[in-house]
This record gives sequence, structure tokens and C-alpha cells, in this order.
Amino acid sequence: MTTPRARQALDGIPVYRPGKAALSDDHKLSSNENPFPPLPGVMERAAAELGRMNRYPDAGMTDLYEALSARFGLPVDHFAAGTGSVAVLFALLSAHLEPGDEIVYAWRSFEAYPIAADLTGATTVRVPLRPDATHDLDAMAAAVTERTKVVLVCTPNNPTGPVVTAEALTGFLASVRDDVLVVVDEAYVEFVRDPLAASGLALLAEHPNVVVLRTFSKAYGLAGLRVGYAIARPEVAVAIRKATPPFAVTDLSQAAAVASLQSHDELDRRVDAIVEARVAMVDALRAQGWDVPDTEANFVWLPLGDDALDFAAACDPVSVRPFAGEGVRVSIGSPEVNAQLLSIAGAWRSARR
Ligand code: PMP
Repeated sequence: MTTPRARQALDGIPVYRPGKAALSDDHKLSSNENPFPPLPGVMERAAAELGRMNRYPDAGMTDLYEALSARFGLPVDHFAAGTGSVAVLFALLSAHLEPGDEIVYAWRSFEAYPIAADLTGATTVRVPLRPDATHDLDAMAAAVTERTKVVLVCTPNNPTGPVVTAEALTGFLASVRDDVLVVVDEAYVEFVRDPLAASGLALLAEHPNVVVLRTFSKAYGLAGLRVGYAIARPEVAVAIRKATPPFAVTDLSQAAAVASLQSHDELDRRVDAIVEARVAMVDALRAQGWDVPDTEANFVWLPLGDDALDFAAACDPVSVRPFAGEGVRVSIGSPEVNAQLLSIAGAWRSARR
């Protein structure tokens, strides 16, 4: 008996593995979520859409694009939204890559990149991070060939934390062809405080080949509602819109995203608290003797090498994200669980002195 067979490109692609479930939501430091509950005003605006669930959502995402346009001072045709920035990335890559093309990205970086890239059938070129866990943009520029169509730059980099500097990204853009799409994944941009950090948005006006990816999942705390977006030149934004399934983002999610943009003062104060906790966490871990790379995101990276899985097991009941043979990523959570994690990390270090 023969059975239908999926494309060969899928053979080497793993099913995405999410962060492990935890004892409680508070104990989950494995998915870089926002520890704060939704703002009541945001919940009310979303809930108001529940009574209309017999209707399809606004496929044109009019209110969302207008709110984004107002927030960033760019016309509505510069945006393309989807069910999380991961879905926007899938649409972007499927719109621009086919077998024979090449895509370049740093590794280790976001787990979804290989899946989104390999699905297109394009060839992947991975450029190792530097020893300090930063992007090696010189090596990435050298890896670009005449077949390269897309380069992914994750800043801050998930899972290691450092940003790409404005100087390095500007130099990189000057050295690659204008027809290479440079995707700047800024999922964690709201947590960045380094004045030298690159801003993809600032580079967009001069570099039409830049695409910025952003999300409501992290700083805005809407991970469960799945809304992300690209900011790009209209030609790129329209390609993403074409490659996105229609009616993907529910009205409930669109309403929550719009309400979040309108409540950004309050949400930004929460982000400040998370940044403060991040700085304290890095200081405390370094004081314990951990070699933690600089991080500008809502997580820290512990380069544990072969001990990654054992450390993650030792963190129980706190759930963290191990990368076997490399390290462990720990999200910033509530003050209590951050303290719990620090005490586990301290005990681990002491036992190995
Ligand atoms: N980019 C990066 C670098 C991420 O870490 C994540 C989430 N882990 C995403 C994109 C996707 O986020 P979402 O789909 O929730 O918008």
C-alpha cells in the first residue's frame, strides 16, 4: 500500500519543541513570556469581541495597521501582521525563497529559523556566533553569495542575549547587495537599553532591503493571542500579506493588540521592571561565578556545555530551556521565581567549585 508522502524537504525538519510545561505558569522560565498578567483594559477590549465569534475577523486588519501606523509614523502599507512574528517569518521566507536560493543566519539562534528556512527548500548557510555569543557580521557578509536571497539577523539574539550594534549592522548593509533581504528580528527590542544597539527601524528609510520583525508576545504580554508583524517597504509588506493565510489573526487578537499599543505607557513601565530584574539577575549570576554573556532581552544564557540537560533537571520545579551540549536559557520571571532560580544556580556552582 502506498501512502501520500510529504515533500522531501520535510524529512530533515523537526517538529518545533516548545518550552516545557511547569508546576505553575509562574515557574515557567522556558519560553521568554511576560510574567505580568494582561492589563484589565486590554482584556476588556479583547473580550468585547467574543460576542462576534460567529463572524470572520477583519482580514484587512484595518484598525491594527492604523494603530501601528500611528505608533511608528509610517504609512499603513509598511506593515504585515500574522499569527505571531514566527508566522510572519514563515510567510516572508516562503514569499522569497525557493530551491537553489541561499539563506544565511547565525547559529545558535532562534529555533524556528531552520524550520521556516528548510520548508522553502532553499539552502541554509549557518555562521557560528563569536565566542562572546554575538553575531559575527563580517563572517556573515563573507558567507553571502550570488545565490543568497535572505539574511536573518536576530537582535537581541535568542537564546544568547546580545544585540548587534548599529555600527556593525550599518557596515553589514553597506557590504551586501541591495537585493538581499536583511531580516532584523527584533522580538525583544523593547527590552534593549544599550545605546549602541542597532535599530532595524532606523535603517529602513535608507535600506529598502531591510525587514523588521516585531511581536506582541514578549514586552506586550500577548503570547497566547498570537500577533506579530513586519515593518518593511510596501513591496516587501505586500509579499508577506499575499503569503499569509486569510483571516489568520482573530478580531479578539487584533483588538488586544490595538488596546496594547494604546496602553503602551503602562506596558513600558512593566518592561522597565523586567529590565531591572534582568540586570539584577545577570549581576547575581556573575557574582556566583557564571560566565553570562551580556543580554538585552528578557532572558539570560548560561553556557553550560555538556551539563545543560543536568542543570535544567536540577532547576525543577522551575522550568528552563536547555540546549543539549550548549547551554540553558532562563527567562526573567516574577521576583519570587527569579530568586528561586538564583538559589538553584548558586547551589550548582558551589557544588562544582
Ligand atoms: N523571534 C524570536 C527571536 C523569538 O525568540 C520568538 C519567540 N520565541 C519569535 C520570533 C516569535 O514570537 P511570536 O511568534 O510569538 O511573535
